[in-house]
Amino acid sequence: MICYFYSTIFILGTLIGSFINCLVWRLHKNESILGRSYCPKCRKQIYWYENIPILSYIFLKAKCSGCGKKISIQYPLVELITGILFALSFYLNLVNLGAIDLYGIVFSFDFEFLIRVIRDLFLISVMIIIFLYDLRWYLILDRITLPAIFLIFALNIFLGFDLKSLLLGVLVGGGFFLFQFLVSRGKWIGGGDIRLGALMGAMFSWPMILLALFLSYIIGSLVSVPLVIFGKKEWGSQIPFGVFLTSASVVVVFWGTEILRWYLSLIY
Ligand SMILES: [Zn+2]
Repeated sequence: MICYFYSTIFILGTLIGSFINCLVWRLHKNESILGRSYCPKCRKQIYWYENIPILSYIFLKAKCSGCGKKISIQYPLVELITGILFALSFYLNLVNLGAIDLYGIVFSFDFEFLIRVIRDLFLISVMIIIFLYDLRWYLILDRITLPAIFLIFALNIFLGFDLKSLLLGVLVGGGFFLFQFLVSRGKWIGGGDIRLGALMGAMFSWPMILLALFLSYIIGSLVSVPLVIFGKKEWGSQIPFGVFLTSASVVVVFWGTEILRWYLSLIY
């Protein structure tokens, strides 16, 4: 029974991943998200059976059936990772609810649990979109962050989060980057980071937002320092910081409480 749930959520994730691939491209091209999928190189329409997450990439041998040009590995990779993150999120939510025992049997879950899962899956999807877009075009779109801030905030209010802590979270998350933006006159970070920081605040609330920001810098240095040492990047060259913020956010969605508990146990 539980395996059935996981595979359904995994498949849902790969479908959302496929949609994200398409959405990111169309946001960049400023095209409507409706309309049939097409090959970005020859604009040939893609049939439904060529659009099955992960599998089509394998069947097509990574080539477009129209022009024969290579299909980027990004497509199946995003589909696979979204599927895995979705299934993992569902599993960890079950664990947190205490609805799962050693044998993986679900005891019960209610409406609130469902909203929690939907919120997490939505946030993960938004973070993947921001990650891909920022990695490729060094930009975080307000069209993605602003609606997400309001939706996540509303869902958290519904889930019984404290309003003051949520507002403080948004203020700290956004303010942290606003401060750097003002001090550096927009040189260190872009305006998009401010909105992304606010989104993280709306998701994690106070004081968990601190952990999310802290973790972003840890991930950022773990990735940047080797890049500089091995000469792939120069010190002070432009780095899409949204990539680290989104990665840290996904980690905090999954293990925020555990990391915080572990950290506090070190201090006290
Ligand atoms: Zn083509």
